[in-house]
Amino acid sequence: MALRCLMVGAGLSGAVIGRALAEAGHNVIVVDARDHIAGNCHTERDAATDVMVHVYGPHIFHTDDEEVWSYVNRFETFLPFKNRVKTTSQGAVYSLPINLHTINQFFGKTLRPDEARAFLESKADLSIDDPQTFEEQALRFVGRDLYEAFFKGYTMKQWGCSPSELPASILKRLPVRFNYDDNYFFHKYQGMPENGYTAMVEKILDHDNIAVRLNTRVGRADMADYDHIFYSGPIDGWFDYELGHLGYRTLDFERFDYDGDYQGCAVMNYGDIDVPYTRITEHKHFSPWENRKKSVLYREYSRACTESDIPYYPIRQVAEKTLLAEYIKLAEQEKNITFVGRLGTYRYLDMDVTIREALDCARTWLAVQETGQKMPVFNISVL
Ligand SMILES: Cc1cc2nc3c(=O)[nH]c(=O)nc-3n(C[C@H](O)[C@H](O)[C@H](O)COP(=O)(O)OP(=O)(O)OC[C@H]3O[C@@H](n4cnc5c(N)ncnc54)[C@H](O)[C@@H]3O)c2cc1C
Repeated sequence: MALRCLMVGAGLSGAVIGRALAEAGHNVIVVDARDHIAGNCHTERDAATDVMVHVYGPHIFHTDDEEVWSYVNRFETFLPFKNRVKTTSQGAVYSLPINLHTINQFFGKTLRPDEARAFLESKADLSIDDPQTFEEQALRFVGRDLYEAFFKGYTMKQWGCSPSELPASILKRLPVRFNYDDNYFFHKYQGMPENGYTAMVEKILDHDNIAVRLNTRVGRADMADYDHIFYSGPIDGWFDYELGHLGYRTLDFERFDYDGDYQGCAVMNYGDIDVPYTRITEHKHFSPWENRKKSVLYREYSRACTESDIPYYPIRQVAEKTLLAEYIKLAEQEKNITFVGRLGTYRYLDMDVTIREALDCARTWLAVQETGQKMPVFNISVL
């Protein structure tokens, strides 16, 4: 029997789940409060410069997941793109992530890989046995000079607090390469959708069983009209923030245009604390095959998210996780709803993980229709 399902949010989560349900013969309504689809991955062709702009900040697709890679390629052609990030620190430009070139340039040396490894070990703070904070972790791995040039200021600007207040887990593994590989991501597949992410999501949503309604905000009162809701909005928002707001960092993008090539790369970080922005992104370099003359750039500033801002990065420290646990308890009392995506589960999710979870969630729901079991409120572990 065809059921009537509501996707709250026309981002990747809502689009991918909606598509799977539509293909299985169900009726899907996708709503979004915004006036466009694709959520935070939204891309838009700029009228003045003809540059494809990543409206909510740059998005680079990278994954090891074969199924997800073939899924996105089913809807859009992905062209090769390697993210080669640079950083400006104390009046010089270096390559990130820290690699042999960065080390040699920073310390004015010509070290080979083994020599660089030994050299950095001599710089590392070996008195730190069991790093607990981001700062300790960085000092333990790379020593004070590289920490201060590349991590300290950037992290303070990004998170609005000292790296000594952040958990070591943020800097999980040795953030250094002892070769000249400056490809930012490790994943097997990397690329950019030829016509942008919004064109891809438009094709995902292009199905006879899917109706899309933009400029439409829905909440708990709208539940009765549907057999099941997949909610990719903020979990605290579903409950009208009755227990308080979950903490996020938001971003301000200050756009400026340039006639030519402003910085010669897509992403330039700024590690110094006295530069107020974290990075400048030059959007035409995300579509290098387009060869545009004029340029659109964003200066990116990070700050605490207020109620009227777009939530970007979940803070997920102890206080936020305690509040999240309370919202999870409330959510588990709800019926016919599944909380999905980056806001519904209060986690930072890359696009490939979002799509993986959306495909899995749709599969679980379709299987549950066969077996008559209860669909979980969360299809993954959220805390
Ligand atoms: C600055 C930044 C850069 C990123 N860069 C990358 C990158 O380079 N590579 C990568 O893989 N990932 C990147 N990501 C992650 C990527 O943005 C997410 O994986 C993706 O957006 C998650 O999709 P989603 O559908 O879960 O959420 P969203 O894209 O946020 O979509 C949720 C949608 O729900 C709508 N909505 C919310 N509440 C309601 C309501 N009550 N009623 C109606 N509509 C509602 C919102 O308007 C929104 O459009 C980045 C994220 C950020 C913050």
